[in-house]
Amino acid sequence: MNIHEYQAKELLAAQGIPVPMGEVATTPEQAEQIARTLGGAVVVKAQVHTGGRGKAGGVKLANTPEEAREKAQAILGMDIKGLTVEKVLIAPAEDIASEAYVGIIMDRASKAPVWMVSAAGGIDIEEVAHTDPDKITKLPVDTRYGFLPHQAYFLATKLYSDVKQQRAAAKILQQLYTAFVEAGASLAEINPLITTPDGTVKAIDAKFNIDDNELFRRPAIEALRDESSEDPAEVTAREANLTFIKLDGDVGCVVNGAGLAMATMDLVKYYGGEPANFLDIGGSSNPEKVVNALKIITGDENVKAILFNIFGGITRTDDVANGIVTATKMIDIKVPIVIRLTGTNEEIAVKILADAGFTAMTDMDEAVKKAVALAKGEAQ
Ligand code: GDP
Ligand code: MN
Repeated sequence: MNIHEYQAKELLAAQGIPVPMGEVATTPEQAEQIARTLGGAVVVKAQVHTGGRGKAGGVKLANTPEEAREKAQAILGMDIKGLTVEKVLIAPAEDIASEAYVGIIMDRASKAPVWMVSAAGGIDIEEVAHTDPDKITKLPVDTRYGFLPHQAYFLATKLYSDVKQQRAAAKILQQLYTAFVEAGASLAEINPLITTPDGTVKAIDAKFNIDDNELFRRPAIEALRDESSEDPAEVTAREANLTFIKLDGDVGCVVNGAGLAMATMDLVKYYGGEPANFLDIGGSSNPEKVVNALKIITGDENVKAILFNIFGGITRTDDVANGIVTATKMIDIKVPIVIRLTGTNEEIAVKILADAGFTAMTDMDEAVKKAVALAKGEAQ
């Protein structure tokens, strides 16, 4: 789950990290009002679930409340990497002497949280990672001991030469680690971590990704979810209890079981196609899930063919068949459907489908090949 910058900043502030806080506006008038209350120059910042807002024109300084209104007017409704800006954060503007990057990610290869810090922070950090990887210091954390004070100091020395700033940064790193662990995050970063001309160290941008599997025991974090900023298909899928990930291909996949879903995507690729999604309808027998799955998949205009791959164990294939028949009556499906099912109640399922004018296949390779060909317009 992604959260907005203003929410991430609240997580940082709760740990005591110095963060210039602001307020969120949804209209230019509110933005002006907030700027007036804050007094002085402000920065108007698009709140969308993506980075690179600065480069896209989604972060603008304003010297007066009127200017804050104008900048908010320009940013609200703006499209940033396919996301529409619905909210802006109005925060006190800071004078910046230096910009550093500090971030911690859950790293699969290291099987541990890994720190990445760089004195060369700011909007070009991705560029630095490519062209100048030596400017980034990495450090894994052994979770048996936690993040130790000497490690925090070591990283801080990579950011600043001034001892006071090193101390301030070491403290911020430890606070950020606590925020990362407590939020169940897979990523927590501050970019930039700035110094001001008087030498103060502060966080002026923050990003957290929350591990979805940590949410069930963190209602306060789950409450930060902003569905209006999420992919509508993924919201529908979550509400319907389906595991769905949208991809860029054209073969829509409806599969039961995560392992079979992965294998299905592999096979689609193997036969020269591109899956449009990962979708696991789960192990239970519930025709409604099929209806929801088809609604989600047909909502994606890239989809040129739909492939069902059902292995009936606990799942009864006749339930899936009923789901397909019900769903195709409810939804006007314009693309061809290929159905492969095998296992529990297979004979009943095949009959249900045949009565409704569908053909069911049992061979997975054949079904995938056919779906790929149909998506390419190469088969009938
Ligand atoms: P991002 O582009 O989405 O990462 O958004 P950031 O909040 O990191 O802002 C991008 C850049 O805008 C920062 O790296 C700063 O250089 C600049 N910026 C952001 N806030 C302020 C501010 O309060 N004062 C000044 N002078 N620059 C700012
Ligand atoms: Mn940033």
